Amino acid sequence: MEPRMRPNNFSKDSTGLKIEELALQKVCEKIPTPFYIYSEANLVETASAYLQNSNANDLICYSVKANGNINLLKILANLGMGFDVVSVGELKRALKAGAKAKKIVFSGVGKSKSDLKFAAEQDIYSINIESAHEVELIKNLKESPRVSLRINPDMAANTHPYIETGKSDCKFGISEAEALEIAKTYSSSEINLVGISAHIGSQITDTELFFELAEKLQALAEQIKKLGHNVDHIDVGGGLAIDYQLENQYDPAQLVKELKEKITGYDLLMEPGRSIVAQSGAVVTSVITEKTNGQRDFLVVDVGMNDLMRPALYSARHTIEEIQDSNAESKNFEVVGPVCETADSFGQNHNLNAKTGDQLIIYSTGAYGSSMGSNYNSRPKPAEILVSKDSFKVIRKAESFEDLIRLEEI
Ligand SMILES: *Cc1c(COP(=O)(O)O)cnc(C)c1O
Repeated sequence: MEPRMRPNNFSKDSTGLKIEELALQKVCEKIPTPFYIYSEANLVETASAYLQNSNANDLICYSVKANGNINLLKILANLGMGFDVVSVGELKRALKAGAKAKKIVFSGVGKSKSDLKFAAEQDIYSINIESAHEVELIKNLKESPRVSLRINPDMAANTHPYIETGKSDCKFGISEAEALEIAKTYSSSEINLVGISAHIGSQITDTELFFELAEKLQALAEQIKKLGHNVDHIDVGGGLAIDYQLENQYDPAQLVKELKEKITGYDLLMEPGRSIVAQSGAVVTSVITEKTNGQRDFLVVDVGMNDLMRPALYSARHTIEEIQDSNAESKNFEVVGPVCETADSFGQNHNLNAKTGDQLIIYSTGAYGSSMGSNYNSRPKPAEILVSKDSFKVIRKAESFEDLIRLEEI
């Protein structure tokens, strides 16, 4: 069989799959499947790649919505990362992980008055404004927080429609014309307008789009400065892709380097989520049963769309592999979960030699995996495990049935 590509720090030898120096079998002996598992080394490598070409005044803000586990946020905070949050809940998570408020940016299309007040009281790096209404609410806050205008640059990211965020008919951001209007209407003593930001979408494979965006934002920043505002940074958002087929690697260090060359006179901010955390995480699942219906062979596994929603929501395909090689003949299976929805499928034509009781790994699930998880079908959320070198620890316990009904009045 052809050797498969795996994320960095995932390998296979005669003992089966290994994460860093730990045999996955050892985790499976102690922790019931399904569970999420992360490689600390992988996470640190990708985060460091973003940091290595940025200056002390630049800020790489990890996007908390990709994966908000506080243990992972702590690792990133210790490396000096900032955080991009889209709710007060995420802001509180970042603070709890030890992030400095001055390294947090707050975006979101529907921030309420109390959200804005809370963020202003924390004295965060910037509130990224997405409507004229927000400007009015912020103007009346006594803290006079630092704000940026989140522009909708009307650019197509050429990705899945659900993760396109920078076209003019998307709900996100404000137009360049509206940004200029706001900058004209309000003086620098009314709003502390210090940045221009954008986020054009997710899974962007063409880095030229970032350079085009940087140019646009810089031109706008110049105009807004001329209107008397002290713009000090440009925030190009997140969105760099990862390869779910595990063939290509996109290079954050090179992207930051080139952005630094193109942006002059402003601090650089970025908001990467997926590209930092996706490849560090995987799901481990057991085969509940094999079955054949009509022409199709199925492997029914114990992880479902409630735990890992990306295939059902975006038709995403994740690479799947056996944890232990066996001599059985491999077959093309459709791998499906136990949830009562036809959409609960991890795709057809997974060439596997697994049988009932075997364990499988689903790669590249560190981002938008556990953070999008739900309890649909009354399924408790799985445990999350962090591997460091040859040891592992539980960073989120598996939920119990009691957890599921705890808030119900009975
Ligand atoms: C989701 C999001 C990001 C992160 O996007 P990725 O594709 O995960 O890098 C960055 N900024 C904002 C405002 C977001 O909503």
